[in-house]
Amino acid sequence: MSIARNIQELKAVLPPTAKLVAVSKTKPNEAVLEAYAAGQRIFGENYIQELQLKENALPKDIQWHFIGHLQSNKVKYIAPYIALIHGIDSLKLLVEVNKQAQKSERIVPCLLQVHIATEESKFGLSEDELDEMLNSTELAQLHHVKIVGLMGMASFSNNLTLVENEFKTLKALFDKYSVLVTNNIQFSELSMGMSGDYEIALKHGATLVRIGSSIFGTRS
Ligand SMILES: *Cc1c(COP(=O)(O)O)cnc(C)c1O
Repeated sequence: MSIARNIQELKAVLPPTAKLVAVSKTKPNEAVLEAYAAGQRIFGENYIQELQLKENALPKDIQWHFIGHLQSNKVKYIAPYIALIHGIDSLKLLVEVNKQAQKSERIVPCLLQVHIATEESKFGLSEDELDEMLNSTELAQLHHVKIVGLMGMASFSNNLTLVENEFKTLKALFDKYSVLVTNNIQFSELSMGMSGDYEIALKHGATLVRIGSSIFGTRS
């Protein structure tokens, strides 16, 4: 099936409360343009260098989301244009995003990544670390970032009950902190669900699903 067709089919099943992040990592500009021609404007990338090249070459009304593991020393490259950073997992990283966003005279929207999977390899904050970060006085001083919600990755597993419970955990945390509104915290986005599990994520309140292979085909 074509990229355009895949996008149309996905959009048809998305509730009005959810948006599609088309994950274009490793895919060529032509593939992004095909999705763009089908009306897609939000794209997710994992690698800074690849994102830089794409941002430079592709239409300026694309909203680029960084969904990978972000290193502090790379933040400066994306701060001028990034629409949303999904994977903030430390205060130190957020401090750097704030610093670089200030240089660009921007307020950069960010999601805090929570570790919900059983696997150890996945990044993210524990519930305690999340709580500490959201309530920290240091965070309140960062005027060039805005925490707009949470992101998580479920276990890579065929056990759908396990995956479902992980999404439920993240949704419960999202609801818990949705009442916490400050100068730079106001939740509206819950980023969860990929090609293999987005239907379960949508059932549990995802507002952003990050889908790559179901749109662009498998990655080599
Ligand atoms: C690659 C990636 C995706 C997309 O994965 P697919 O299974 O191809 O849909 C989503 N989220 C993150 C964080 C990723 O790294």
